[in-house]
Amino acid sequence: MKIVDTYFRLRSGKGKSGWLMLPVLLLMVVGVYSLVHATGGIKYVYSHSMYIPVMLAGLCYGWSGGILIAVIAGIALGPLMPIEVVTGEPQKAANWLFRTGFFLFVGVLSGIASNAALAQVRKLQWMTRHDPATGLPNLTALLDALGAGDANPSGFARRALAVMSIRNAPELRTVFGVAVVEENMTQLAGRALGSLPPGARVFRVSSEQLAVLFEDPEGASADTLARVGAAFQLPFLYREVPLHLDVLVGYVVLADAGVAPQDYLRRAQSATFHAFETGSEIAHYQVQLHDRTRDSLAILSGLRIALERRELLLHYQPKVCLRTGTVRGVEALMRWNHRERGLIGPAVFIERAEQSTLIHALTAFALETALGQALQWQAQGIDLPVAVNISSRNLAHPDFARRILDTLARCGAAPRLLELEVTESSLMLDVARTTAELQLLARQGVRVAIDDFGTGYSSLAYVQRLPVSHLKIDRSFVSDLMSSPDSQHIVETVVSLARKIGLQTIAEGVEDAATYERLQSLGCDMAQGFYLARPMPADALPAWLEAFDSKISRIPA
Ligand code: C2E
Ligand code: CA
Ligand code: CA
Repeated sequence: MKIVDTYFRLRSGKGKSGWLMLPVLLLMVVGVYSLVHATGGIKYVYSHSMYIPVMLAGLCYGWSGGILIAVIAGIALGPLMPIEVVTGEPQKAANWLFRTGFFLFVGVLSGIASNAALAQVRKLQWMTRHDPATGLPNLTALLDALGAGDANPSGFARRALAVMSIRNAPELRTVFGVAVVEENMTQLAGRALGSLPPGARVFRVSSEQLAVLFEDPEGASADTLARVGAAFQLPFLYREVPLHLDVLVGYVVLADAGVAPQDYLRRAQSATFHAFETGSEIAHYQVQLHDRTRDSLAILSGLRIALERRELLLHYQPKVCLRTGTVRGVEALMRWNHRERGLIGPAVFIERAEQSTLIHALTAFALETALGQALQWQAQGIDLPVAVNISSRNLAHPDFARRILDTLARCGAAPRLLELEVTESSLMLDVARTTAELQLLARQGVRVAIDDFGTGYSSLAYVQRLPVSHLKIDRSFVSDLMSSPDSQHIVETVVSLARKIGLQTIAEGVEDAATYERLQSLGCDMAQGFYLARPMPADALPAWLEAFDSKISRIPA
């Protein structure tokens, strides 16, 4: 393979080696001429040796080189060479012209073959370092460029790398087919090149990411990046349809020569992830962010394993009727019994799970466990419905209602044993569809509560049309009920309007007797909170219920 490599390097004419062969070829022509002359003239067979330099010339310099040496060889073995050296008899012109014609034929043919092979090799070489769709240099080329700076540490410190990621590429592909991203990438590359300072190079590093290498970090100033960002905000055209690309930009200054090129790329990529998390378009890489991203990824993969290892569990928090003091149900709240970190609350992991499809598995686990527990309590004479929290991503699943009904059937639980808690904002995402899904469940007897009510924008008039039966007044209004007249007013209004439209109200986050009593006087239906009970393991509930029965007689009705 070395010979082949050397040959193509020679053919590419890189460096002085390109010219090295010309004198060698001429020497060979002279050598053959001398051989033919010394062996008595053209009459004898040695003239055929001339095909060797002619063919080599074609191989080394293409068809033009082949022609040049063929002509020189034709003349050397033509007018300059007698038929027989002893007699000095010259050749007939037709003879040597005919021979020269053969030389030309062989020179051109080997030249064409060698040109074709060279073109093919060049194409392969180009393809290993470029993206065929956009013509931009690819990941390999970027890593080489980053590594090249490494060799020159002072140059390295003056560079910056930005990564631009099309966040909605998967959606676009689903709707318009795979070609759409390729087309958008080409347009994106064009816009990037048009809005960047000189010296910035654009690379395509993955199916939906471009990278820009700035040779001078001044070039990667917030201004430039904002300008590039603005260029991406304009719609992109695909088959005459204007499309919006969610382009996120993450960047990092290459200040530390000890960092491997891949790590710099990863840092810029993790900054795009941070941009996404914070809802901004541009984010600068910071070590803490990187750690957070890594943490959150660790949480995600850890959760998956936790689910398999049965490290997830539910705690239950009672809801008490404010009028009678009886317990009317419990809310299931997820916990993770982590091997090293102990019991972890959902605040740490639910949000991260909601950004991935893992939330479906978590909700399925919560539904099955909660229903299984409700049935077990039922067998012990405790008849309480359980409320399970549902994420917007669950609601958006096309089979949402069907899956819940299937779970109920599989567990052999009556639908009235189950309540779903959905937040206002997730209901508003696709109102028509979620209404239809929830209606299907409501018709079967599953109750639905709007969680964190008051934090969204829905009006009560609007809620009236949704198939929900309870409103859970958000903790923020309940916790300062005693101190804020505004909160009191809001709770009062929600309670009275809810009653008018036939909905029950639950106040969450009740932490003291005063709030409990105020809620009673405001006519709220139920209360839930630390004052009554903290969320507890399932097996603690029977004892709590018993103790609560005797305590409740002391709470004024
Ligand atoms: P949430 O649905 O609003 O649940 C009520 C949260 O308030 C619970 O926190 C509960 O422990 C806490 N809480 C209850 N009473 C009081 C009180 O008197 N004072 C205070 N300060 N807090 C009180 P937790 O268990 O940490 O859950 C947090 C959130 O995580 C939940 O908020 C819910 O949105 C989510 N979550 C919990 N379990 C699940 C689950 O299984 N699936 C889904 N999708 N989300 C869940
Ligand atoms: Ca809840
Ligand atoms: Ca809540």
